Amino acid sequence: MKKLRLLLGDQLNEAHSWFEEVNDDTFYLLAEMRQETDYVKHHIQKVVAFFMSMRNFSTTLQAKGHRVLYFEIDAQNNPQNLEQLIKNCVQENGIEKFEYQLPDEYRLDQLLQNICSNLQIATEVFDTEHFYTSRTELSTFFEGKKLLLMENFYRNMRKKHHVLMQGATPVGNQWNFDADNRKKYKGEVPVPAEKNFHADVTAVLQQIQNAGITTFGAIKPTDFSWPTSRAACLEVLDYFCRKLLPYFGDYEDAMHTDEKFLFHSRLSFAMNSKMISPKEVVDTVVAHYWANENTISISQVEGFVRQILGWREYIRGIYWKEMPNYSQMNALNNSNSLPDFFWTGKTKMNCMQHAIQQSLDEAYAHHIQRLMVIGNFTLLTQIHPDEVDAWYLGVYIDAIEWVEMPNTRGMSQYADGGIIATKPYVSSGSYINKMSNNCAKCHYNVKDKFGDKACPFNSLYWNFLDEKKEYFKDNQRMAMMLNLLKKIDPEELYRIKLKANEIISNMDAY
Ligand code: FAD
Ligand code: SF4
Repeated sequence: MKKLRLLLGDQLNEAHSWFEEVNDDTFYLLAEMRQETDYVKHHIQKVVAFFMSMRNFSTTLQAKGHRVLYFEIDAQNNPQNLEQLIKNCVQENGIEKFEYQLPDEYRLDQLLQNICSNLQIATEVFDTEHFYTSRTELSTFFEGKKLLLMENFYRNMRKKHHVLMQGATPVGNQWNFDADNRKKYKGEVPVPAEKNFHADVTAVLQQIQNAGITTFGAIKPTDFSWPTSRAACLEVLDYFCRKLLPYFGDYEDAMHTDEKFLFHSRLSFAMNSKMISPKEVVDTVVAHYWANENTISISQVEGFVRQILGWREYIRGIYWKEMPNYSQMNALNNSNSLPDFFWTGKTKMNCMQHAIQQSLDEAYAHHIQRLMVIGNFTLLTQIHPDEVDAWYLGVYIDAIEWVEMPNTRGMSQYADGGIIATKPYVSSGSYINKMSNNCAKCHYNVKDKFGDKACPFNSLYWNFLDEKKEYFKDNQRMAMMLNLLKKIDPEELYRIKLKANEIISNMDAY
């Protein structure tokens, strides 16, 4: 039977059971499409990384003897529309059955179900064989529970998959080493340069430009750093184990103006495109730990495993549990617009300048920059979560809706009303000062609440608490902050709020 098997740009899993057999009657379909490049404005490095990875994947499949139908972005016969493309391929190749893998994005899931119902041939859907969990495993795990605590889910995952376990006991006799993993980076150990593949992407870049795709952000056409093949992804993983893992946990929450990547793995694109699986990342890291137990402490490894076995799977489960309503949530009724400096990096706030400029230059910021600097600012300034989501979805190399949206709208903006975070991730300048060297070189004074040189995060923080105090009045985790708010002298609070409103009404001036 002649089959057409669709592979989306983030379904580049070479180990999938589909590829075990080479069959002349099976056609694999990969296509670069305007439908995907245009639904949000993407960073240029993201578009390049996906196209390059898809092309390399196609080459690998063909080298193994598989038949591939590949449509480049500027191909004459590329209809730039998935349904039309599938219909064309079915007709031109006498296809009798259409198969696809479960998309991770709700939009594409719906679209493919519709396409299948419109096709006149048999269809079948397969698992991607990528994640540890199925789409519904988290919902089943938390059935009947009010609080969906990540920690509970993560411990269950550790036990179920026997990761860092000695019998029923976690290695190191502790589940959580977060308290050890909050060091400020002061240059104690040099940070190894990031793994860079120095690839020449001039040709694909030219095609993207010729196609008229609107993108943003910077790119170095002959020095492209991201991995775009499975072999390159494995090199990044190996580099992480050897060079970065020994300090990953220690500095995972730290920020430094001279170090864009610190000890972070930069593996999110490799995993989100499915060129490597979370299981092989976790297994490789754990095996490296056991082989180097004398030099790497458990807190570094547990901190890393928690991100993948815990957070990544948890976030995916929340997405499928809550969609499609999740994408509409705006629990705090925020409605302001993003300032222009999100597209230019031009702001006097040193922490924001570094985090945003780095995002525009590298299509990357690490977790704490995303959460406690940029996300903190957008929440404190009460920006509409749709605008925040669109920016995050466009800017980061690893941004695919299933992982971007619960992190942004949920964890960072509290727009889901606390499904993910038990309290909003907001802070004044003091947290940024504690975890980074940004404040020392800032135009603003981190200690001041008002005056021309006052750190904007300070007045914004107290103003946010004051404006949202009704909403949070029954939240026990907010009690301490709200008690501190009550102690502020009314006249001082008035001045703080005046300052905050000045900032909110003219963010680009700050
Ligand atoms: P490392 O710090 O080395 O961590 C290792 C891996 O753990 C990551 O590669 C990632 O796969 C996983 N991980 C860590 N934290 C999370 C998390 N909260 N959710 C899911 N996986 C996690 N991650 C994305 O992959 N895509 C996104 O679009 C995305 N958007 C985010 C938006 C916001 C507002 C926040 C706060 C976080 C977001 N994250 C997102 C999670 C996290 O910031 C990135 O996964 C991480 O920064 C990627 O860099 P890394 O590979 O160097 O990660
Ligand atoms: Fe950011 Fe305020 Fe520190 Fe400046 S002083 S870097 S604005 S936290």
